[in-house]
Parts: sequence; structure tokens; C-alpha cells
Amino acid sequence: MASENGKPISYNLENKVAVVTASTDGIGLSIAKRLAQSGASVVVSSRKQANVDKTVSDLRSEGLKVEGIVCHVGKDEDRKALVNFVVEKFGGIDIFVSNAAVNPAIGSILETEESAWDKLMDINVKAALMLTKEIVPHMEKRNGGAIVYNASIAAYQILPLIAAYSVSKTALLGLAKAVAAECASMNIRANVVCPGIVQTKFAAQLTDYESISEEVLRPMLIKRFVL
Ligand code: NAP
Repeated sequence: MASENGKPISYNLENKVAVVTASTDGIGLSIAKRLAQSGASVVVSSRKQANVDKTVSDLRSEGLKVEGIVCHVGKDEDRKALVNFVVEKFGGIDIFVSNAAVNPAIGSILETEESAWDKLMDINVKAALMLTKEIVPHMEKRNGGAIVYNASIAAYQILPLIAAYSVSKTALLGLAKAVAAECASMNIRANVVCPGIVQTKFAAQLTDYESISEEVLRPMLIKRFVL
């Protein structure tokens, strides 16, 4: 993020502990790195041990305070293990970035298979709430915290090619409002970020084929992907 003079805004997150899900690649990795560069102790996670190990090693080689653990956000035991790990390593949690998502369905909303819908809701929405439930008591113990759900531009502007995914991201807007209302008295904030289309592995099916990318860019005012 840049300030008006184009320089990155600097935050002091020394003594803060941050958890970012799905943080061994793409947007999650960038968020984890930026939080750590601002002084936070950060726990990265994703499904594959090799990805976690590489990310921890890469970020530590830059002098950042990082630990890592495998966490498939769709698995209850992994979610609980993640939260226990963070609290054991760093003594509490101040920042939670819920970043994991899947997109198993390409096509219109009425073509969505039940299994694809269930997976979207499980990973993109239910896991975000379940992790929030695990983490909020730890934030309360520290008299506050910040929760950020990574939604998408598709939360506001349904993208017809990925309509069901878009609905799952719209649900995160509602989830953040509900959590913010319930947690304000604990000094815990809940917000959503809605990135445009970023050229990651996740978005490759939208960005890498000309006929599809033209369709995806059509409703966007500035017709470009984020690098
Ligand atoms: P990405 O570059 O493909 O990275 C995906 C990351 O998620 C990897 O670290 C992967 O590691 C991990 N992962 C995948 N499934 C997981 C699961 N079930 N549990 C835990 N970790 C998992 O993806 P991205 O584009 O950065 O997307 C990240 C978030 O940004 C998603 O919520 C997406 O909806 C959102 N978003 C993306 C765009 C875009 O255009 N790219 C735009 C708006 C919003 P493992 O393989 O080791 O699990």
C-alpha cells in the first residue's frame, strides 16, 4: 500500500502476532510478508508441508519473525492445531487474516453442481467463521484485535463466469458485518478486503486465456489485471 507521496505506508506492528491462512503463495504470502516486515510475528500456513517449510525458510532468510504449520482450513483438527500452535509459539493472537479460498466451479449460477457449492461454502465461508470462533477468545484476552477476510471484487460485482464463487465472497461481507457487530465491545474489528483480479495460480483460469480474460475484464472500469 502506498501513501500520497508514493512511499509505502509504514506500520509498527512490533509485539503483534498475526495469523494468515493460505499464506505460502500469492496474496496470502504477500500479506504475511508485509505484516512481518512491519514488525509482527507471523504464522504462515497452507495444506502442504513443503510449501510451509519453504515459505518459513524464505521469510526467515529476510530476517522476519515467522513460524509455520500445515493447516487445511476445511479440516477442523487442522484449524484447532493452527490456533494452538500460534498461542504456544507467541502467547496470543492480535491479527487474523482469513485468506483461503477455492473455486471449483466455472460457469453460471444455475449450472452449479451441489458438490461444488458445498465445497465453496465449506472452504470460503464456513472455515472463515470456524477459525474466527477459535481465535476471538484469544483476541479478547489481549483486549482487542483485527480480523480481515479476503473476499474479492466479485463480492460486489458478481462475475458470471464464476458466479457461485462470487456468491461465497458476497457472504464474507455479511460475515464481517456480523462479527464486527458482535465483537466491537471486545475492541475487535472485522473488515473485508476486495482485491481485483491478481495474476496468481488461483486466477490463472481467468487471466491466461484471451477469450476468458476479455469476458472477465468487460465489467471492470480499468481493464487490466493486477500483477
Ligand atoms: P494462490 O496464489 O493460488 O495461493 C493459494 C494459497 O492457498 C497457497 O498458499 C495454497 O497452498 C493455499 N491453499 C489452497 N487451498 C487451501 C486450503 N484449503 N487451506 C489452506 N491453504 C490452502 O491464490 P490467491 O490468488 O493468492 O488467492 C488467495 C485469496 O485471494 C483467495 O481467498 C482468493 O479468493 C482471493 N482473491 C484472489 C484474487 C485473484 O485474482 N487472484 C482476487 C480476489 C480475491 P497449498 O497448496 O500448500 O495449500
